[in-house]
Amino acid sequence: MGPSVAYHLLSQGLCESVALFEQDPVHLHSSTGLSAGGIRHLFSSSVNIALAAYSVRFYERFSELMGTGDGLGPDVGFRRNGYLFLLDAANEASLLQRADFQESEGVALERLDRDRLKDRFPELETGDLVGGIFGVRDGFLDPYQVMRGFSQKAQALGAQFIGERAEAIEVEAGRAVAVRSAGWRVQARLAVVDAAGAWAGEVGRMAGVDVPVVPHSRQVYQIVPPSQAFDRYPLTIDPSGFYFRPETGGRVLVGKSFANDAQAFVWDWNRNLFIDAIWPDLASRVPEMENARLESGWAGLYEVTPDDNAIIGPHPDLDHFFVIAGFSGHGMMQGPAAGLALAERIGHGAYRTIDASGLELRRFAEGREYREDAIV
Ligand SMILES: Cc1cc2nc3c(=O)[nH]c(=O)nc-3n(C[C@H](O)[C@H](O)[C@H](O)COP(=O)(O)OP(=O)(O)OC[C@H]3O[C@@H](n4cnc5c(N)ncnc54)[C@H](O)[C@@H]3O)c2cc1C
Repeated sequence: MGPSVAYHLLSQGLCESVALFEQDPVHLHSSTGLSAGGIRHLFSSSVNIALAAYSVRFYERFSELMGTGDGLGPDVGFRRNGYLFLLDAANEASLLQRADFQESEGVALERLDRDRLKDRFPELETGDLVGGIFGVRDGFLDPYQVMRGFSQKAQALGAQFIGERAEAIEVEAGRAVAVRSAGWRVQARLAVVDAAGAWAGEVGRMAGVDVPVVPHSRQVYQIVPPSQAFDRYPLTIDPSGFYFRPETGGRVLVGKSFANDAQAFVWDWNRNLFIDAIWPDLASRVPEMENARLESGWAGLYEVTPDDNAIIGPHPDLDHFFVIAGFSGHGMMQGPAAGLALAERIGHGAYRTIDASGLELRRFAEGREYREDAIV
């Protein structure tokens, strides 16, 4: 989010200079590099659909947009295999209702009945299913290349990267005025932006304000399936909660959010969780996965807010302090649009391209939280 805001501020001439503090310059723990990279329009609110739609268009041209003097920017490998929410008797009514809404918002989707689902994806066990909702323009990409592209381009436009932890935010007369690290003090004439992902609450506390974002540790598993049948598969979400999608090299990535995942800054990979709590469901849905090989995996942090929606915009309790954090597991598909929205809000004082005002932090105090149903 930080490099996306920097890119949009500088490329649109909304700001003369930007400094980006990064405590972890190799991005060992940043959520972006540890993401599954799923990109979908299939949300249950207008603003999330609008953010995804802009971001998808941006990703289609990412390499060109991120080009620097050295040539094109990184290839994010955006594969439009689609997104597939599987429907069973329990979730059918709500997902079909959500599909009606999504279509009314212009989202391209297909409703597959059980026969069409089985025709298209014969490896799936469909006996207990009634069908699926297929997001036609959706897919997945390489999150690390997204981060690299935005970072390189922002620097080419003049952003200064400071590979140090921001340790203090100076506040004067109710206004954020500077950021300090061990070796730097950067005066902020226009804005201080909290784009600290799962650490956003900590950075908020440096400025003396509350930013309600908490870390939730999530597991990802890379498996080697017994056949290459899955390479053409969409990112598929099972009613039991797990998802899987093809990865390069014939691999498949699998993940699932659990209510008792650690809410802490931990990145321990839990191999047994896959064996005990995911593999049985995966093998029931895709019988040949019984013979897959668990190769590796990792853990990363979701950055979760009270209503599972991002916080974008000014902090209500501190002038010149802006937040872009708490994407609650869907930041890859919103990063380009969110960066644009915040840059416009900072530079113009108003949202021009996408109205993200519903995602401002004040919604919590004003009782305008809204639940996003389509959380994975
Ligand atoms: C396992 C997993 C799967 C996911 N799958 C998807 C998916 O399929 N699709 C999707 O859209 N999203 C997905 N997400 C979510 C997505 O990755 C995140 O929403 C997004 O990457 C958040 O970006 P960010 O810039 O806010 O956070 P980050 O990438 O974490 O960046 C925040 C940065 O701030 C730095 N920082 C923090 N505090 C300080 C400080 N005091 N000083 C200096 N630097 C600091 C951190 O080091 C970090 O690099 C997934 C996330 C995980 C963990």
